[in-house]
Amino acid sequence: MTASQNIYFVSLGCPKNQVDTEIMLGQVTDAGHALVDAPEDADVIVVNTCAFIDSAKAESVNTILEMAEFKKGRAGKLVVTGCLAQRYADEIAKEIPEIDHILGSSDFPSIAKTLDAPAPKPTRGKKKALPVVQVTEAPAYIYDHDAPRVRIGGRHTAYVKIAEGCDRPCAFCIIPKLRGAQRSRSIDDIAAEVTALAAAGTKEICLIAQDLTRYGWDLADRPTLAQLLHRLAPIPGVHWIRLHYTFPSAFTDELIDAIATLPTVAKYVDVPLQHIDDGMLKLMRRGHSSRVTYELIERLRAKVPGIVIRSTFISGHPGETDAMHAALRDFLTEAQLDRVGVFPYSIEPGTVSGMLPNRVPAKVADARAAELMELQRGISRAKLEAMVGRELEVLVDGLSEETDLLLEGRYFGQAPGIDGVVYLADGTAPIGALVRARVTQAADHDLAASLELA
Ligand code: SF4
Repeated sequence: MTASQNIYFVSLGCPKNQVDTEIMLGQVTDAGHALVDAPEDADVIVVNTCAFIDSAKAESVNTILEMAEFKKGRAGKLVVTGCLAQRYADEIAKEIPEIDHILGSSDFPSIAKTLDAPAPKPTRGKKKALPVVQVTEAPAYIYDHDAPRVRIGGRHTAYVKIAEGCDRPCAFCIIPKLRGAQRSRSIDDIAAEVTALAAAGTKEICLIAQDLTRYGWDLADRPTLAQLLHRLAPIPGVHWIRLHYTFPSAFTDELIDAIATLPTVAKYVDVPLQHIDDGMLKLMRRGHSSRVTYELIERLRAKVPGIVIRSTFISGHPGETDAMHAALRDFLTEAQLDRVGVFPYSIEPGTVSGMLPNRVPAKVADARAAELMELQRGISRAKLEAMVGRELEVLVDGLSEETDLLLEGRYFGQAPGIDGVVYLADGTAPIGALVRARVTQAADHDLAASLELA
């Protein structure tokens, strides 16, 4: 191994990418390197990229260019990993000569070797060497509980990736091409990881995958998500198990019963619905009709009273008419979902939707998304206002970013990083503590609460 080097990481994109970064952090520290908080102090800079939609690609490229500037200083090596590397290795290799190594979305376990590798040498007559590219066409890696991992953020909450990749054919989505076919971890392996996390003080376990509800389909013994929940729920120290990225047509009664009956499974589901119009669901190749969506919401609310439902939608997908948009608007009014994100459609080369006719102008897509988010802002506020006076259990995340006078935390109905928070006043508590508080005020997406219950 070469001498210890200072490594600086930038982690972009979704929680699944964050887990990959945390594995890389574990591997480089295990290899004896030091992590630094500032790029100017680094010998090596690693950018773990996202390439889901245009804006994410732009952010990744801008970040790489920004980090490349530090090669004018101490940094001797720039490594690019993640989805942009998986998708555009050749393009970024040509366009950004400052890059030294490119690792695909399942090649990042080679990061320690990459740090030890000599910088690439320019070929005859060339001023600058081309980057070393290591991108596996069909990504196949998924970590296990033995993988070294250095967690980003508070000890009290953690993402646990139970599977990677996706086998579904959604027309607008490039993820199967970036992340490969689905591969699930065994229940024993996931339980070992969660047991270790809980023993180290983690109270909130956020389960993630590309499609959580398809967990285990690719394994010989076909374990189910419900079976996994029954295994994880009694692990000592686990307080909330949160379900992210579920698929609407894949909710079995067994799964809903597990959510309803297991005390440590948070009464919260994140289920991207994308749209409600049957014609649009067909164009999106979602494999189910609006009836499945209506029935799912009914089943969840009947079996799990007070369940908090988060969802995301796409506005302006090719073929979306005014009537289809109106149907989605009416659905949001009728369904009264708790947490909603709406994204204007982004043309993704290499997807089925990218080749569809009847494109919707970007301005129209933006306006439709803004209209739905404005509608949802009112729904969210009304729901939160109805909670004023209620006593809640809150997991403390730390000092508020707004002011040091307040703590920030979340109740079971708020996931980290994507939902609102509870601002806590009239007292203090350590990070990771579970406290009781009474809601005193509501805003569009956040709550204020007092630690003085009386
Ligand atoms: S289930 Fe999700 S990740 Fe898989 S193809 Fe559909 S949208 Fe993409």
